[in-house]
Amino acid sequence: MKIYIDGKYYDEKNAKVSVFDHGLLYGDGIFEGIRAYNGRVFKLKEHIDRLFYSAKAILLEIPISHAEIMKAVVDTCRKNKLRDGYIRLLVTRGIGTLGLNPNRCKRPSVIVIADKIQLYPKEMYDNGMAIVTVPTTRNLHNAVNPAIKSLNYLNNILAKIEANIAGVEEAIMLNADGYVAECTGDNIFLLKGGKMYTPPLSAGALYGITRGVVMDMAREAGIEVSEPNLTRYDVFNADECFLTGTGAELIPVTKVDGRVIGTGKPGPITKSLVKSYHALTQISGEPIF
Ligand code: PMP
Repeated sequence: MKIYIDGKYYDEKNAKVSVFDHGLLYGDGIFEGIRAYNGRVFKLKEHIDRLFYSAKAILLEIPISHAEIMKAVVDTCRKNKLRDGYIRLLVTRGIGTLGLNPNRCKRPSVIVIADKIQLYPKEMYDNGMAIVTVPTTRNLHNAVNPAIKSLNYLNNILAKIEANIAGVEEAIMLNADGYVAECTGDNIFLLKGGKMYTPPLSAGALYGITRGVVMDMAREAGIEVSEPNLTRYDVFNADECFLTGTGAELIPVTKVDGRVIGTGKPGPITKSLVKSYHALTQISGEPIF
């Protein structure tokens, strides 16, 4: 595997960052998780847009342009002959001193890793997954804003550990006001009476790229979509529930905190959206070859 670091490609064993990089020392940096399907990078522009928004929010000057980053991602896929897979793009604050002041970091580092993807077990896509709500709440907007896809994912990791302890793969995170925000690495959707609901960004949801695609697809299919504040009560009483993410794609949820959702099987609207999503991934994106 060839890994891109600041304009050069390295073999996996030689792809290294300094122990003084503030990405390592403080989680000071940002990232994106991107998918390649059928020889194309899906929604690449949208991911790079979000990377630049994250960078702006943390005053990180990305050392190369939007177009150059897009090219670095596509070139790294091509170098690795990757037709289908997962791309991890990172921008770290760069090498600094042991103090946390980012002004000491001379130049941010851009890293691209193009690898295979590990999904949830197929059985969960077919029959739905069980999830729980965990005690760790989503970061506050006025602390580390959840819209920033930062290298500091401890908030999500703590929630994931709590999911693991409960014996499930994903967890609903509430915000400090008790409203549903999202899951540890996925956005959440509900269907009730033929209408679709997902928490607003103001509730602590990430501006998910898959979330956006699914909302567009639903609207095209004539489904009304809105973003109200949602509580666990709304989740328990939904007809259907599913999660979205670049890695997870769309995955049905059939049990939450021991309550069966809808019929206990993936619902018809979820199934139809899964189909449309897969079809879209096969035909659109930035060509690699
Ligand atoms: N929420 C969080 C916290 C995430 O990390 C992610 C990305 N894995 C998502 C939602 C889904 O976003 P996207 O569809 O852009 O991958």
